Amino acid sequence: MSQVQRMSRLMVKTLRDDPADAETISHKLLVRAGYVRRNAAGVWTWLPLGKKVLDNVSAVVREEMDAIGAQEVLLPALLPREPYEASGRWEEYGELLFRLKDRKGADYLLGPTHEEIFTQTVKDQCVSYKDLPVMLYQIQTKYRDEARPRSGVLRGREFQMKDSYSFDITDEGLAESYALHRAAYQRIFTRLGLDHRIVSAVSGAMGGSASEEFLAPAAAGEDTFVDCPACGYAANTEAVTFPADRAEPADASSVGPMEELDTPDTPTIESLARQLDIPASATLKNLLVKVDGEIVAVGVPGDREVDLGKLGEHLAPAVVELVTAEDFAGRPDLVRGYVGPQGLAKVRYIADPRVAPGTAWVTGANKPDTHARDVVCGRDFEVDDYLDVVVVEEGDPCPSCGAGLRLGRAIEIGHIFQLGRKYADTFQLDVLGPQGKPVRVTMGSYGIGVSRAVAALAEQTADAKGLCWPAEVAPADVHVVAAGKAAQIELALDAAERLRAAGLRVLVDDRAGVSPGVKFTDAELIGVPRILIVGRRAAEGVVELKDRRSGESEELPLTDAVAKLT
Ligand code: ATP
Ligand code: MG
Ligand code: MG
Ligand code: MG
Repeated sequence: MSQVQRMSRLMVKTLRDDPADAETISHKLLVRAGYVRRNAAGVWTWLPLGKKVLDNVSAVVREEMDAIGAQEVLLPALLPREPYEASGRWEEYGELLFRLKDRKGADYLLGPTHEEIFTQTVKDQCVSYKDLPVMLYQIQTKYRDEARPRSGVLRGREFQMKDSYSFDITDEGLAESYALHRAAYQRIFTRLGLDHRIVSAVSGAMGGSASEEFLAPAAAGEDTFVDCPACGYAANTEAVTFPADRAEPADASSVGPMEELDTPDTPTIESLARQLDIPASATLKNLLVKVDGEIVAVGVPGDREVDLGKLGEHLAPAVVELVTAEDFAGRPDLVRGYVGPQGLAKVRYIADPRVAPGTAWVTGANKPDTHARDVVCGRDFEVDDYLDVVVVEEGDPCPSCGAGLRLGRAIEIGHIFQLGRKYADTFQLDVLGPQGKPVRVTMGSYGIGVSRAVAALAEQTADAKGLCWPAEVAPADVHVVAAGKAAQIELALDAAERLRAAGLRVLVDDRAGVSPGVKFTDAELIGVPRILIVGRRAAEGVVELKDRRSGESEELPLTDAVAKLT
């Protein structure tokens, strides 16, 4: 929709300095350029410029979802406990769930994802196989009490998600709905201008079988993926599985000598650190998981680590013991892969990491062959800390062809699942089949982080000067900058109007009393793809047209500039 937005009337306050707590590019720049404003940890306001970008992303998502025949609905975010109780996720989600009570004391939650409610909706609305297949979607606010909300809108506790759900009566039908979503996602991310990879993923709390993630490579990403330059194999490191024949089962002798730790009666973080001869502020390296006294998973955190300081706050009076080599003896299923020079530092097995809070774990202690035992998950560290564990290294053999794997950091922007009948079983979602008998429905679920996509785009496209949006999502097509004099402002407004008439969305900097230097800096920070400067040769009708990304500019008559832009 073509329009002219005057900067003199736009609520935008740009900042010269990065917010003190900001670590990622998107966090810094979206705040500095006046796109978002923080209200609380992981809770954000979308200011006018930010709202435009968010809406542009939503529009692309909506168009492509409509194009595959998905129907848009809007379900509540405030949800009753019962359906989540029935699926087991009221418990399973643990502290991630925002729970609340109404005035009568009934339990509610703020929806983190909506499989349960969509299943109930379809159970209510679809009765016959003729009503299926059906695909439903919504673009809605989701709530998750993330352990460490950081990185601005990349990881919010309140965020925008497009979630969709497919309902079929056959496995082939589900495969088709999944394929439609997969293709739609590729079109969406391509149109948005996001560099992305599709990788194999683990299903996690969602349940179900097949699952793939859409990852946007970026240094700020919290996911690590591998890809094989030789055969194209790609997977989230959480999902890499090595064939059994490649595994070198560990036995007691290959684990190497375990150092005995002389445990004081009430170990503190300081005493532990002293014994291990490491700084108390060090971060843990290895993570070994124990559930009911059994080691069920072993991981290596790579550059993701558990904060020993945090662990230390809760260590006393926990009993700290060593994991002995016997813990691994005769359990080749546990220690697949190989045991490196750091003892257990290069083990490549990972089991379901969603261990219930309160389970005793065994953790690494940043020292070869030394581990702390009976560290309690949920008390001493978050399950999320463990989920971040990286288990594969650069150059490790590709599970599919054996060539050296490459490792990369990325942001998870989308995730698609073939759920199968898990939720349909819970809610007895059947339709009347062609033979008049009830048929159990099979489901898929598909998510896109709409607000996260804005941040991911900022991460991938920003440069030293600021944001630098791809055309499809930019808050405007052209940013017209009037250098300052009244005549220049007049000509700029005239140019803006002509561009609008030609169908463009125009942001025009008509602010009086703001220096040209500040206006240019702001234009570069805000990141509209094309900048039209009405400056020193305005009187002759000559303007400067600048490409935000390349920085290339040319002087030309206004009429030619308008023609070029439209
Ligand atoms: P992550 O691994 O980053 O925590 P997830 O696997 O928990 O994400 P899903 O349950 O797969 O997320 O949700 C679908 C999509 O929603 C994700 O692919 C991601 O793009 C987005 N998303 C998830 N959590 C957040 C969040 N806290 N803030 C913003 N977007 C999010
Ligand atoms: Mg998550
Ligand atoms: Mg994930
Ligand atoms: Mg996911």
